[in-house]
Amino acid sequence: MHYPLLKIHTQAIRHNIRAILQKLNQWQLRAVAITKGFCADLPLVKLFLEEGITCFGDSNPGNLLKIKHTFSTRNSDLQLYLIRLPMSSEIQLIVDNNIVPFVSNFESLQLLNHAAYKVGKFQKVILAVEGGDAREGFLEEEILGNFNFKALKYVDIVGLGTTLACLNGVLPDLDIVTRLVALKKQLEEKLDKELTLSVGGTTFLELWEGEPLPRGVDEIRMGEAFLFGHDISRKKAFSWLNQDAFEVVAEIVEVKRKQPLWGKARGFDAFGKTSAFLLSGEEKERALVAIGKQDVDENQLYPEDKNVTIIGATSNYLVLDVSKSSQNYKPGDTLSFRAGYGAVLRAFLSPYVSKIYF
Ligand SMILES: *Cc1c(COP(=O)(O)O)cnc(C)c1O
Repeated sequence: MHYPLLKIHTQAIRHNIRAILQKLNQWQLRAVAITKGFCADLPLVKLFLEEGITCFGDSNPGNLLKIKHTFSTRNSDLQLYLIRLPMSSEIQLIVDNNIVPFVSNFESLQLLNHAAYKVGKFQKVILAVEGGDAREGFLEEEILGNFNFKALKYVDIVGLGTTLACLNGVLPDLDIVTRLVALKKQLEEKLDKELTLSVGGTTFLELWEGEPLPRGVDEIRMGEAFLFGHDISRKKAFSWLNQDAFEVVAEIVEVKRKQPLWGKARGFDAFGKTSAFLLSGEEKERALVAIGKQDVDENQLYPEDKNVTIIGATSNYLVLDVSKSSQNYKPGDTLSFRAGYGAVLRAFLSPYVSKIYF
């Protein structure tokens, strides 16, 4: 096992899953676990399954296949959503593996219809609807317009899905939910069948805590609440959930008092940004840590030693101000950080970070 480490505290996540499921039961909502934040790493998927969640969503079909191949024989009710609109190269794989994609255009529906016809089965889809965040989804008038969904004989529309607070930060409210429920009812009449209304992500959870909502939402897709007990769209931690399930540990490789040369021309860093953190002319005791932007998002790392502050990061170094700490840090020491969504996502993707489950 080599540094840097990503430590995953499974008991903290198990608690979050149980606490959320208890609330969703009261609200008569089904939970969908979104696995893109941890590359569907199998020990975590297993944890969700053990707690009774059987529907998983990911933006990457490879992650869904990994889940399917590992768990589908023992879990016959496993259901997999592809939550990013499919590329044309993914259509065959979706049909062959009974993945339910979110779709927002007629071209994809036609491709799915044709691929399903060729293998002789019905392909389930969820129609993505634009809920107000101006990212993906059919417009309401397209769904209710004169397009004949029934003409796609091999496409089985099973629901409507909406996502908020992703691109423009538009937050869900009573008005948006009321409109979605009405849209679901109208499409149910048009198609003459019952549909699932699927909302996400974590930003929706808070709605049910407040004013009573109209019935009609069936499920909520979440990653952040389960993993981090947090709602980034409102910069709010849920008091009844754990926030400390993920910890990054990395090693110090240099400690020196330094300041940048003052009065010199300054260019751009490897990411095309001006190096704002070097602007301080103050000499400080800096610690260089062997982890960088390639492995984590330094903006979502929170040092356990509260007197340490992050000055910045380059591809492969994290630079800390340790001058206010009571610890006498030296090379070879390790430092721990609580890690947020962006940091954990990158750590799972980085082959340089060891993942350890506790
Ligand atoms: C990422 C994502 C989610 C989950 O969002 P969280 O904020 O992690 O809860 C749900 N639905 C879609 C379509 C997504 O892309």
